[in-house]
Parts: sequence; C-alpha cells; structure tokens
Amino acid sequence: MSYDDNNIFAKILRGEIPCNKIYEDNFILSFYDINPQKKIHALVIPKGKYIDLDHFSMNASTEEIVGLLKGINKVAKKLEISADTGKGYRALANISDYGGQEVPHLHFHLFGGEKVGKMVE
Ligand code: AMP
Repeated sequence: MSYDDNNIFAKILRGEIPCNKIYEDNFILSFYDINPQKKIHALVIPKGKYIDLDHFSMNASTEEIVGLLKGINKVAKKLEISADTGKGYRALANISDYGGQEVPHLHFHLFGGEKVGKMVE
C-alpha cells in the first residue's frame, strides 16, 4: 500500500481543510478530533507521509521519531493532562485493517480530561 495524498489528514497538513489546532512544530501537527470520544480527545500526526505506525517505524528518520514522541509530550503538557500533573491520559494508535484504522496517515489519539477506563472491560 502506498501513501494516499488525498487522505483527510494530508489535506489538513496542506491547509486545504481546517482543523482546531492545538500545537504545531517542525515534526508534528496536533488538533482536536472532530468526533470526541472523551472530554479531551486530541490527535497528533507527524508531518511526514507515513501511513501507520509500522510504516513510520520502518521509514522515519531518528529525528522524526524523536520529534513525534516529544511532540506527544508537548501536546499533553499544553492540554495539562501529562503524567506530571497527576492526571494522565491514554495514547493510542490504530494500525491498519484489524487495528480499525480509518484515516491512512499515522495518528495518535490522546484521550484524557477524565478517567478513560480500562482498554478491555
Ligand atoms: P482512526 O479510526 O484511528 O483512523 O481515527 C480517525 C479519527 O479521525 C477519528 O477519531 C475521526 O473522528 C477523526 N477525524 C476524521 N476527520 C477529521 C477531521 N477533519 N478533523 C479532526 N478529526 C477527524
């Protein structure tokens, strides 16, 4: 599978579709999910053209990998849900078909602002 330049997050990155931006730097863009599942539901996406976490892990530069991980922490701090606030959150990436991924541009969901519960009840 090759990267689809017409996926919705690619369009957001190109500024063709608006988003409710939280944070941006050289490596990542973060914005609120359009259909929030928890009080806080943010998305963090790398700026590079990566389909999913496996594609990213295999192909991204060390700089990009560090940029994404540090970016998640920066967003969590900005939203005041990072671990050092005593609150915390869930970071989750759906990967490909069985993982339930809908948008084929790597994204981490950050769920927080309330107790998010167990993954599997
Ligand atoms: P996933 O199922 O992991 O691929 O998640 C895709 C997420 O993208 C869903 O939670 C959608 O609500 C969200 N989403 C889709 N379109 C937009 C958009 N234009 N702006 C913000 N979030 C979006």
